[in-house]
Amino acid sequence: MNGSCIFCKIVDRTIPGDIVYEDDSVLAFNDIHPQAPTHVLVIPKRHLATVNELDDDDAALMGTLVMAARSIAKQRGIDDAGYRLVINCNAEGGQTVFHVHVHLLGGRQLRALG
Ligand code: AMP
Ligand code: ZN
Repeated sequence: MNGSCIFCKIVDRTIPGDIVYEDDSVLAFNDIHPQAPTHVLVIPKRHLATVNELDDDDAALMGTLVMAARSIAKQRGIDDAGYRLVINCNAEGGQTVFHVHVHLLGGRQLRALG
């Protein structure tokens, strides 16, 4: 728990989140400024600021985030049409919230990255 981290506050319910999935290690909630009909953020409950801070022991946890995102996509029926998973890292990667998160985007044709 990082007291100044907005996503940690959603994990511990200090601030509200529109939660769509939860298990022991993962929380998923709708993005507050959705960029697509489905825009869900899938996060580890444990505070990790950026992908740069991950160590080898976190590999399974990151896999768990991908599997949770995949389940949500399937639940919403967008798996066959397709979707995008994105992790931004630091300033040039476009990261604005410094608690690792996977964006699940789908429900419309997505444009090329860049
Ligand atoms: P990133 O730019 O990759 O760090 O993504 C951060 C995302 O968090 C953005 O898409 C924001 O819209 C989203 N966001 C910020 N605050 C909240 C919040 N309180 N609840 C849900 N999503 C949020
Ligand atoms: Zn955090």
